[in-house]
Amino acid sequence: PFQLGPKISNWDEQRAVWLHNHPGANMTAAGKPKVLLVTGSQPKQCVNPMGNFQLLKAMKNKVDYCRLHDIEVYYNLAHLDLAMNSFWAKLPLLRKMMLTHPDVEWIWWMDSDALFTDMTYEVPFENFDNYNMILNGRDDDVYNKKSWLGLNAGIFLVRNCQWTLDLIDVWAPMGPKGQVRYGFGKVLAEALSDRPEYESDDQSALVYLLNKDRERWGSKVMLETAVGLHGYWVMLVERYEELMAKGKPGAGGGEYRWPFVTHFVGCKPCGKGGDESYAVDRCLKHMERAFNFADNQILELYGFQHDSLSTEAVHRVRPESSDPLELMDQLKLKPKV
Ligand code: UDP
Ligand code: MN
Repeated sequence: PFQLGPKISNWDEQRAVWLHNHPGANMTAAGKPKVLLVTGSQPKQCVNPMGNFQLLKAMKNKVDYCRLHDIEVYYNLAHLDLAMNSFWAKLPLLRKMMLTHPDVEWIWWMDSDALFTDMTYEVPFENFDNYNMILNGRDDDVYNKKSWLGLNAGIFLVRNCQWTLDLIDVWAPMGPKGQVRYGFGKVLAEALSDRPEYESDDQSALVYLLNKDRERWGSKVMLETAVGLHGYWVMLVERYEELMAKGKPGAGGGEYRWPFVTHFVGCKPCGKGGDESYAVDRCLKHMERAFNFADNQILELYGFQHDSLSTEAVHRVRPESSDPLELMDQLKLKPKV
């Protein structure tokens, strides 16, 4: 069967030896576990030129968030395994990242079409001690309803450990393009309650694996909604002005909580038409709004704001100061020190 590389079964031991020889390498300066955010896009430029611009803005958004929270970023443009194109491209990439960066404790996969929209929010990694994978999702939808929409595989955290390698070892063989991908598409359509029959996708395959062996996989996968690793854009993008008026970033729960992530599921402004669920114009309009909503939080540091969420134009919100450092204490979001 398909394999991404030679079988590794003692990664935890290999990594422990490496960490023993590199004490402290897996911690940030603030003493938190080291996190690597991994994202990317297809090797060729987008069919729609606006798609390229959108990818650039989505990358800037991630760089901004990660700089503020001491997270490293890897942006991939290569197909590391030709059989694993499109959404399957993340699996060879994640395996490679884990094995090449033993210092990293957590790998954070984030789709190119997802934006951070609360720049202050910090993921509570300290709550995940008993888990190796964290996704936005619900137990009931995954295990009882067996719905392929019970979790979102566009954004997730995985621990750099043997368990994750083992998961990728059983996950990836459902993805190679061609006959295999079509074959598993049928398996998934049969096993899951609401999935049409088309070639296999990584998200359905994960739901399938969780149901197939809940003890082995499910016990280490935290499905939750509180962090907001994924937020469905349709529910969020019309509310940004209201959230700006009545809420603030980092305010925790509540009706006016700013969404941590806005994910443009079903939008394909980069690729060709086909199975687009939403009109490209609608997607691009709201991607710009989401970007500017987040960008305002960054620009605030520098004394600027967008004129509105629909324009790239900015204006000054405070005069330049001859005592710039004093001003820093009053900022909501402080530059990383
Ligand atoms: N992706 C990639 N290389 C590709 C195709 C996709 O790195 O050739 C990444 C990209 O980040 C994308 C994610 O995989 O957001 C999921 O792919 P999908 O086709 O579902 O795109 P989406 O609908 O998320 O834009
Ligand atoms: Mn996506």
